[in-house]
Amino acid sequence: MDQAEKLTRPIVQSLDDILGIPFKVLDDGFVRVVDYMGSDESIVQAARVSYGKGTKKVSEDRGLIRYLLRHQHTTPFEMCEIKFHVRVPMDCWRQWIRHRTANVNEYSTRYSLAIDAAQRAGDEHWRMQSKDNKQGSDGFFDLATGKKLSKQEHHLQDLSRTVYEERVNAGMAREQARKDLPLSTYTEAYWKVDLHNLLHFLWLRMDPHAQFEIREYATTLGEEIVKRWVPMAWEAFQDYKVNASSLSRIEVEIIKALNAQGKDAANDVARSFGLLPAAGEEIKNNRERGDIEAKFEKLGIAIPWK
Ligand SMILES: Cc1cc2nc3c(=O)[nH]c(=O)nc-3n(C[C@H](O)[C@H](O)[C@H](O)COP(=O)(O)OP(=O)(O)OC[C@H]3O[C@@H](n4cnc5c(N)ncnc54)[C@H](O)[C@@H]3O)c2cc1C
Repeated sequence: MDQAEKLTRPIVQSLDDILGIPFKVLDDGFVRVVDYMGSDESIVQAARVSYGKGTKKVSEDRGLIRYLLRHQHTTPFEMCEIKFHVRVPMDCWRQWIRHRTANVNEYSTRYSLAIDAAQRAGDEHWRMQSKDNKQGSDGFFDLATGKKLSKQEHHLQDLSRTVYEERVNAGMAREQARKDLPLSTYTEAYWKVDLHNLLHFLWLRMDPHAQFEIREYATTLGEEIVKRWVPMAWEAFQDYKVNASSLSRIEVEIIKALNAQGKDAANDVARSFGLLPAAGEEIKNNRERGDIEAKFEKLGIAIPWK
């Protein structure tokens, strides 16, 4: 290797073009890029330390990035870093902050007055509890009910803000005055993360199982920012993570039996794994079987027991 080789800092013009520009999320939140290091090229550069320089054609860079992601060779993706400034309601932030592999500095409501903004759902956006998924929602309240819920929300948020400000004006410490502010209150933070962990965050939080609000943030980060920053890594991420499906041992066995011997054999396999009751007995709810059904439907595979 030529130690004296002159290097140029990777610049991604399409990301430079949006540096500092906020992308609106929810009613009053945003994400914006403050700084970044690296590009698709940096992933390739790091990988070539282990695989040798080879040729440097763009098509080969793309192939290498796809190979790395396909084979979980993730450390080259850690060579890219990005720093965001985000404004997020506290309930959503509580989910966000569970991702431990980022560097965070959050607005202090001990030191400063709490941000005077709280997320509002919108009359038509009040979701109903899902019956199948205890962590999820399903459908919306009708508009008339939605209007009532919004009115109640405005009242509650306004009241809690008034009480907060009265406490502060009376000389109460900000650290205590804040205790009754709602979780809908916006907070702001600087959030710095490497690309490997950012993709992991996006994979979990863009997923339909994630809560709508954090999904909105994750989708904006992904579609508006990561896609511009590292288009090749983004494409590979779409292909090998977001739109990919993995099969469990049980699923593989069921599909093999289905293809080789038909439905009855596939049902026997499902039964042997406890997914179906003995022949003639009533079929009870089974979460794993439900997940398998959803996956088979997505892949266009006949569900043998239906
Ligand atoms: C749909 C959904 C529902 C959820 N429900 C709940 C819930 O009900 N209650 C709840 O508490 N949480 C819940 N979570 C949060 C979830 O359990 C994780 O804490 C969160 O998604 C962060 O994931 P992570 O640990 O993979 O990410 P990060 O913290 O960013 O970590 C990234 C990766 O680094 C590695 N890593 C990080 N820290 C450690 C460590 N200490 N030891 C070993 N490896 C480590 C792991 O490989 C990990 O996957 C939910 C998340 C989702 C997406």
